[in-house]
Amino acid sequence: MKIFKFGGASVKDAEGVKNVLSVLQKVGHEDVLLVISAMGKTTNALEVVIKHYFEKSPELKASIQEVRKYHNQILLELFEDDKHPVFRAVNVHFEELDYFLSHNKSPNYNFVYDQVVSYGEIISTTIVSHYFNHCNMKNNWLDVRQFIKTDATYRDAIVDWEQTHKLISKNVKKKALNITQGFLGSDENNFTTTLGREGSDYTAAIFAYCLNAESVTIWKDVPGVLNADPRYFENAVLLNQISYREAIELAFYGASVIHPKTLQPLQRKEIPLFVKSFINPLLPGTRVYKGADLEPQTSCFIVKKNQLLISLSSIDFSFIMEENISEIFALFHDYKIKVSLIQNTAISFSVCIEDKFGNFPELKKILSKKFKVSYNENVSLYTIRHFTEKAAQMVEENKTVLVKQISRETLQVVAKE
Ligand code: ADP
Ligand code: ASP
Ligand code: MG
Repeated sequence: MKIFKFGGASVKDAEGVKNVLSVLQKVGHEDVLLVISAMGKTTNALEVVIKHYFEKSPELKASIQEVRKYHNQILLELFEDDKHPVFRAVNVHFEELDYFLSHNKSPNYNFVYDQVVSYGEIISTTIVSHYFNHCNMKNNWLDVRQFIKTDATYRDAIVDWEQTHKLISKNVKKKALNITQGFLGSDENNFTTTLGREGSDYTAAIFAYCLNAESVTIWKDVPGVLNADPRYFENAVLLNQISYREAIELAFYGASVIHPKTLQPLQRKEIPLFVKSFINPLLPGTRVYKGADLEPQTSCFIVKKNQLLISLSSIDFSFIMEENISEIFALFHDYKIKVSLIQNTAISFSVCIEDKFGNFPELKKILSKKFKVSYNENVSLYTIRHFTEKAAQMVEENKTVLVKQISRETLQVVAKE
């Protein structure tokens, strides 16, 4: 079986959905599990709904209506007849969402977040599945929450591999086209959980691992993995093949084309990952697989925007020692803050972090009891793998460099634009 993943950009409008069908017609769909994300920027739009819900804002209704309107437009373009059962099916999901929001009593933001954002994927897969059936491409719609079991860490759930493996290997129909949601899972009480933003690539890897799939293909709006994000760097070039190791490094440092959690399950079973263009599906794209000598011959540039550079120094001029550092790291872990770079001197300790869950203000209060805390907001972290002098110069040009670190393969710069 092959696993295909189509992300938000590929199904952002009716044309996109039609294109997914055409990709499958070109590359085959007889023994395929299709993982699909929410359409376009739906997850962001549902985040706005959640914000309004918690703020008890009068805009709540309008923000839900916007999500409805967007999907309705896509439905009208895909199905000529608005009596088609898909309209009812999608409407039922919106009614469930309304019901949840008017009956929920939980004050737990992360819990509510997962129950609400999940509708993005539930609705997108409902539309795609009906559309494919409508075009005679018969498929099974699977509710991924009956397959991927997780703990109850809402917004960043951890997969229970044993249960998930059992459910997937026993219940997914082979030699068929299956369609399911990316990003979602469920906890032991069957509440919806999510695997972290952009987590649908990871869903594809979970299914691949549990099904011993032949390969995973993630279909993107770029020709494959490039040596840089084309949004920020001109003249990016395609990497035809890279090792799991190289791909993990690129994803870890922030090359958002592959979600970092995707690679480990694939590497463990040596399942190849293809990153291909949904615009030119017959082009080879990038192949990620086992191989020692697959280092790119060119420098790779990665940029992570919106980072925080924090410096902690001791209040009484004492050294920042191991015990302080371990305490600081335990706090980062508790507050779900991801550290991307570390630098320390005798009495100070600097880290470049990403505060995905908005926990830094709380953490700062705790750190300030023991350390002097200073920080720069909105800095960018540039990473160059396989750097050259010229590549480094290019990245540093016209920026204020706050921290620079060089190791054998990798150069990192924290800079203010
Ligand atoms: P999806 O629709 O699956 O969510 P994403 O938008 O998350 O897709 O990922 C594709 C985007 O990743 C590209 O449009 C590109 O801007 C960005 N990207 C970042 N780094 C790279 C890279 N090294 N190679 C290719 N694309 C990259
Ligand atoms: N829809 C989710 C998100 O936007 C998951 C994904 O697209 O991978 O984060
Ligand atoms: Mg994405």
